[in-house]
Amino acid sequence: MSSTAQLALLSEWDRGRWVWNQCVAESRAAHTAGEKCGFVPLAKMLTGWRSKHEWLRQGGCMPQQQTIRDFTKAHSKALKDVKTGLPMRRRAGMPQFKKKDLASLTLNYTRRGFRLKDGRLHLGGGIRLTVVWSRDLPADPSSVRIYQDNLGHWYASFVVQAEGQPLPETGGAIGIDWGVKETATTTSDAHDLRHPEHGKKTAGKVARYQRMMARRRPKPGRAASKGYRTAKRLAAKAHKKIARQRQDTARKWAKRVVTEFDQIAVEDFRPRFLAKSTMARKAADAAISATKHELINMARKHARDLRLVNPAHTTMDCGRCGARAKHALPLSERTYTCTACGAVSPRDKNSARVMLVRAGLNPAGVDRGRPDGPPVRRAA
Ligand SMILES: [Zn+2]
Repeated sequence: MSSTAQLALLSEWDRGRWVWNQCVAESRAAHTAGEKCGFVPLAKMLTGWRSKHEWLRQGGCMPQQQTIRDFTKAHSKALKDVKTGLPMRRRAGMPQFKKKDLASLTLNYTRRGFRLKDGRLHLGGGIRLTVVWSRDLPADPSSVRIYQDNLGHWYASFVVQAEGQPLPETGGAIGIDWGVKETATTTSDAHDLRHPEHGKKTAGKVARYQRMMARRRPKPGRAASKGYRTAKRLAAKAHKKIARQRQDTARKWAKRVVTEFDQIAVEDFRPRFLAKSTMARKAADAAISATKHELINMARKHARDLRLVNPAHTTMDCGRCGARAKHALPLSERTYTCTACGAVSPRDKNSARVMLVRAGLNPAGVDRGRPDGPPVRRAA
């Protein structure tokens, strides 16, 4: 990217941040003044700010309007959070001031704010960028997000209205349970997914960089040393590599599941990211999150019926007769034995089957080799 374009993007970002902070200040003032919802006509104010400040006028109007829309959205969402008795500005998700060195650099442009021509991206305010395409755009994009990652690389991410690409029906249903050793245990043995140990090699490196960072951590108020910054960059790079491998594995697996099954019942797992959890647990949670995310997207793209299932008590319920055991299975117990119907199955397999039953899907569709339905008529 040319240095002119970089400079232009950075100034655009500075202006956007100024507008955002102005919004925060105005809405806080309104709250303090006792106006109940803190409503401030921000869009109108923007016109005022632009006529007052020449440097603000130099930037495109579109990204600044987008900033106002983003702020309004975040603000009204936080206002709905009525459970807390916290002061207004402390509420969860309440927009805060963006500090220059802490906020991540992002610019959003909607349809009227950008143009693609001869492989170049033209942004409002006369910014021209040459784009290196990672893949072809399947259709006209409706918006674009320009951002810089923590390694200093610039990216343009286009939003394209995804058209459903329905796949042929298979008549199959699958239940999926998430876990540590096996990222996914399913009702179909061929679709279980072992925890990919991507991190293993790179994790050692990450740990080393983190130790380097800890030793060189700058004192409050002091600038970070060169060694600290280098370690930080290397750690970020290693993290990124792991995330990319994880996503790749997840996407391939999701594609296979979605291709072979019409109906998918998935445990609605939400990682808790406990501070005290082990590295292995963290890695497993991250793998589950990435895999679940890819599966949901893939199912949506190919118009499959995916149902998220509440995971409460799954280790206590029998996947065959639906009876609930009196006690939860201890983690060490890997086999589920039903006292009601006598079914014995590996613990995770039982849970996968419970997902299917809870989603209201027919387990008969699972073992396609042994249909429980009416007998197939044989040709004479
Ligand atoms: Zn049972």
